[in-house]
Amino acid sequence: MNLAKGLAPAHVRVSGTWANATFFQEPNDTFENCRISKMNDEIDWSKVVVLGSFSNTSRINIIEENMKDSTIPSANPFIAAPFTVVRKEYITPHYLRIFLTGERVAEIADTTVGINNKIIIPPAGIEKFTMPKMNPETKSQEYANTDAKPIIRTYTHRGIDLEKMEIWIDFVVHGDEGPASAWAITSKPGDALGVMMKRGKKELYSPAEHYVLVGDATAIPVIGAILEDLPESARGVAILEVYGENEEQFLNTKADIEIIWTHNFHPQKGSNLASILKQQHLPVASRFAYVAAEFSTVKEIRNYLRKEQGWEREELYAYSYWKSGVAEDRSVTDRRTEMVKDDG
Ligand SMILES: Cc1cc2nc3c(=O)[nH]c(=O)nc-3n(C[C@H](O)[C@H](O)[C@H](O)COP(=O)(O)OP(=O)(O)OC[C@H]3O[C@@H](n4cnc5c(N)ncnc54)[C@H](O)[C@@H]3O)c2cc1C
Repeated sequence: MNLAKGLAPAHVRVSGTWANATFFQEPNDTFENCRISKMNDEIDWSKVVVLGSFSNTSRINIIEENMKDSTIPSANPFIAAPFTVVRKEYITPHYLRIFLTGERVAEIADTTVGINNKIIIPPAGIEKFTMPKMNPETKSQEYANTDAKPIIRTYTHRGIDLEKMEIWIDFVVHGDEGPASAWAITSKPGDALGVMMKRGKKELYSPAEHYVLVGDATAIPVIGAILEDLPESARGVAILEVYGENEEQFLNTKADIEIIWTHNFHPQKGSNLASILKQQHLPVASRFAYVAAEFSTVKEIRNYLRKEQGWEREELYAYSYWKSGVAEDRSVTDRRTEMVKDDG
């Protein structure tokens, strides 16, 4: 394996019992700049050159390849890296943008602005913490030291500046009862935050002529990213709920999208997003809706679009970003079940 590391970037093909142990058990950092694959992986062999090979019970072929070929995924499909707060900017009184830097910012350029990430908040009193390892098989986080288990929440990759080596995440400031919101309020330059993301580009929305975007403040990061990305030809409406008039923010788009702002100072107590949506003339063809908000709102809108308005499953992406009264990690099963149960 040292030879493989010496030759990196390289494509390392392994086989046999040793290979299985290496592929599944070694920490993936060992193979930085190498792609490890099992013998039966699909590989475009026309792009690789065999440099050398050994033969024993466990055969290893070390193969050079053009690592600039972005179609070749890294060994670990997840980026999990420590970051440091650079600065904070209140976009509005309840909406805080936090800029982060770290050695692995460049890897995040290969993802899509608007996709979700996991933030890893260091346990209270612990400044230096160990990042969990993401197990690609089980897709779960593994901890070397469970006593220092950090808090994990889901947020949105809102932007990246490769020149400044910064990424940023927008936090809804909903009080200090939630560790993520509390962390955002109190964090200061130099503080640590772990960020985990899935590698690779992802479409945030399906191509259509008409868009219906509905979200509360937690969805402004993803809907903001969608608006920035939509082509000039796209038409539609975005219904966005924020705390008050002074929370409305400028969202950039080339598309012809009407933005309807609605105000709600107590989002935990319910929302009128669904009733505003029901007052709209909805498109009948070539349409796509993106809905992200509190659990009850998403459920009501999904029922309305799918059951009352006859939208097809693929015309809608709807997912609850939080559930009132329940911490994010404890509501995840309910939120996923609500989405999976979508049977029209
Ligand atoms: C895919 C995805 C992407 C997301 N992206 C973002 C993002 O970019 N920015 C963002 O701010 N949020 C985002 N969220 C929502 C965020 O994960 C939740 O709001 C999360 O609960 C915040 O964690 P916390 O530790 O502050 O509160 P938790 O510990 O999870 O909850 C504590 C209490 O606060 C309440 N609560 C949680 N969120 C809110 C809220 N927004 N308003 C009022 N009460 C609340 C809970 O119901 C609970 O009672 C996203 C969620 C998902 C699933």
